[in-house]
Amino acid sequence: MGKMKVVLLESTGDAVNIIYSACRQCYSSCFAADIFKDKKISARQKSVFIKKIVASGHESPLEHAKFTFAVDGVSRALTHQLVRHRIASYSQQSQRYVKDENFNYIMPPVFETDAVLKKEYQSCMRMIGGCYSRLIRMLERKGIKGETANQDARFILPQGAETKIVVTMNCRELIHFFNQRCCARAQWEIRRLARDMLKICVKKLPEIFSGAGPKCETLKYCPEGEFSCGRYPVREKRGR
Ligand SMILES: Cc1cc2nc3c(=O)[nH]c(=O)nc-3n(C[C@H](O)[C@H](O)[C@H](O)COP(=O)(O)OP(=O)(O)OC[C@H]3O[C@@H](n4cnc5c(N)ncnc54)[C@H](O)[C@@H]3O)c2cc1C
Repeated sequence: MGKMKVVLLESTGDAVNIIYSACRQCYSSCFAADIFKDKKISARQKSVFIKKIVASGHESPLEHAKFTFAVDGVSRALTHQLVRHRIASYSQQSQRYVKDENFNYIMPPVFETDAVLKKEYQSCMRMIGGCYSRLIRMLERKGIKGETANQDARFILPQGAETKIVVTMNCRELIHFFNQRCCARAQWEIRRLARDMLKICVKKLPEIFSGAGPKCETLKYCPEGEFSCGRYPVREKRGR
């Protein structure tokens, strides 16, 4: 059974300078390429400017910098939610081309903490794993092999099946993703992923991400109504 791994593969080099130059050009007659090369502007000046811009809601310059993460040891239930975020790029391990011989799966913490529940969960998964292998063998005996067999046998695999995915998001989308998925209302596994990604982003680009997190932290109120975790007072989102 897998443990969630979140590894930063790459992020835009000199992101602060790129965002700063793009942003600055909006408000000056200068060319972004000249601003980008200007050594007289200190790193601190750039950070201060970017923080102000982010706080003002002028977010489009943040789209020029991106992060690529490799994620392992997560469930298909998680990736199904993750790929709903459309302003991003994904590459996920295929269940057609990669046969899950040992049938790896994710165990939700609630089953981990109770011996009876854990045994029952494991036994359900063993049963599904056995059915999956049996179906593949039966298809193979009929001459249906490889990805052609896998693509149909996988229909019985559960949402808990383990998977790997590579995700690339720009900084604007990452902030939106953290707003939604660091929220206590988000499902525990994607919340854990969001938290791990956020930690990496804050370390790399504090001027953009130090204030990122669940939406209530920016709004200073919770728009989740009866589902609120109680951290902030409940209020309707403005403009709704
Ligand atoms: C707690 C929680 C519970 C959820 N429950 C459900 C559920 O029960 N059922 C369900 O189906 N989904 C559910 N979702 C998923 C949710 O509805 C969104 O699909 C998902 O969170 C992606 O968010 P998004 O669409 O804002 O963002 P993204 O796809 O990441 O897009 C970012 C932003 O770009 C803009 N945008 C992107 N595409 C368009 C477009 N086509 N038109 C206009 N604007 C666009 C929007 O402003 C959007 O907010 C849930 C999400 C959360 C956090």
